[in-house]
Amino acid sequence: MGYEFDVAILGGGPGGYVAAIKAAQRGLKTALIEKGSLGGTCLNVGCIPTKALLASAAAYTSAKAARDFGVTVEGVAFDFAKIMARKARIVKQLRGGVEYLMKKNAVTVLAGAGTLTGAHSLGVAGEAERDITAGAIILASGSVPARPPIPGIAGANVVTSDEILFWDAVPPTLAVIGAGAIGLEFAYFFNALGSTVTVLEALPQVLPAEDAQLAAELATSLTRQGIAVQTGATVLEIGDADGKKSVRFQPAGAEEAQRVSADVVLVATGRWPYTHGCGYEAQGIPIAHRAVTVDAYLHTGVAQIYAIGDLIGGMLLAHKASAEAAVAVDNITGARRAMHYHAIPTALYCCPEVASVGLSEAAAAEQGIEVATGSFPFRPLGKALAIGEREGFVKVVSRKTDGVMLGVQAIGPHVTDMIAAATMAVQHGLTAEQYARTIHPHPTLSECFHEAIEAALGHPVHM
Ligand code: FAD
Ligand code: AMP
Repeated sequence: MGYEFDVAILGGGPGGYVAAIKAAQRGLKTALIEKGSLGGTCLNVGCIPTKALLASAAAYTSAKAARDFGVTVEGVAFDFAKIMARKARIVKQLRGGVEYLMKKNAVTVLAGAGTLTGAHSLGVAGEAERDITAGAIILASGSVPARPPIPGIAGANVVTSDEILFWDAVPPTLAVIGAGAIGLEFAYFFNALGSTVTVLEALPQVLPAEDAQLAAELATSLTRQGIAVQTGATVLEIGDADGKKSVRFQPAGAEEAQRVSADVVLVATGRWPYTHGCGYEAQGIPIAHRAVTVDAYLHTGVAQIYAIGDLIGGMLLAHKASAEAAVAVDNITGARRAMHYHAIPTALYCCPEVASVGLSEAAAAEQGIEVATGSFPFRPLGKALAIGEREGFVKVVSRKTDGVMLGVQAIGPHVTDMIAAATMAVQHGLTAEQYARTIHPHPTLSECFHEAIEAALGHPVHM
């Protein structure tokens, strides 16, 4: 039976739109259904706008610190409306870029809400009102901010990342619930612009999934910058008192609950896969804990229907979604490629930056793997001193038996860019010895990775 399209993709985020391009590049007749804006969460209300805001905060902070470099800058100030306008311009430009890519690759973009209506059919409601058929389907409907059942969460001035990205002023005081990447990036941004910020995190450390030493270093730095970081603090209720929000939380081990008051409360307690109204259940697509479940090949088990990105859970990251897009398209076109998750880098873009890939020391221990570790601080490096960066370190975890690099954790300047080289090593199973023999340019911050690996091998040079 002939279908109108070879592939139809539901959702145009970094999972869906990358899948569309990859499919079109293979010569497949491709449709992409998007009910909001192309680029999805990442481009419109996620990765990109937050990085634009953080760059403004960094510019403001650097201008204030210019005298440390012998540069006199008077009257340093910021204009919040201009910061937000710059962010909007960047998003608009990139969205135009994705629209152009769809045209260039001859992808049929259908603007509207898609519903899976059969094993090979979808309905579209909205601007493009029509039914389509496709040989294969990729579900990529992404995720939305989690709204846990905390009493008062629906109240005024209790917002998620979706709303705070369009706030029109710096709140004098801000309470952030959740110390994951999203919560911490906003905490850093508003603190840098003068807001009094409190972060409440239920688990014992910030960035709970990361190495404990790294999380401790980050918490110390954020505290030094003036952010009140409360870990082991479970938020119980959000009320109103004296014209402000009043957040009641239970500190771990304490008998009495405590309160923190703030003008705005940011709920950053994670994200939920988005399946609402998509017709998945009716078509027998398996769903567990809100997420669509797939096998190692990203197949849902139903007909030729694959699922990728935030919709299937795991690490909710744009590059994970795009990597899955490539795997799903390969499998649709006849390959049998499993998706591997052992080398997906994570990144936090506040100052100091945090990045990691692979196993932490604790995660390796949990799996019963004997490891060697080595770490090296940025402080003694010539380049770090030259650019006025003293914070942070790089830590390397390698397998004791054969030296294969299992993971790297880093906190400090530009680590989110530099983690790519470590990711290559972990992805391809390089040994620490092989990495150590890779010549790094001097003077650069990348030398910190080299030194940490030398330390893991037991012969650091500059320590
Ligand atoms: P999404 O980007 O959520 O896209 C799904 C798309 O599907 C949406 O456009 C939606 O409108 C559409 N859709 C849903 N249902 C339908 C339907 N029925 N019909 C038609 N269309 C539909 N990740 C990083 O890697 N780095 C970062 O720095 C980073 N920062 C972030 C900051 C914030 C504030 C947030 C919220 C997220 C951030 N993320 C970051 C996470 C990243 O945005 C997501 O992991 C990524 O967008 C997931 O891509 P996706 O394609 O799976 O889903
Ligand atoms: P992430 O899932 O990485 O975006 O991070 C969300 C964070 O919110 C996690 O670290 C959770 O532990 C934290 N969290 C979830 N619910 C609560 C709560 N009620 N109070 C405080 N922190 C919470």
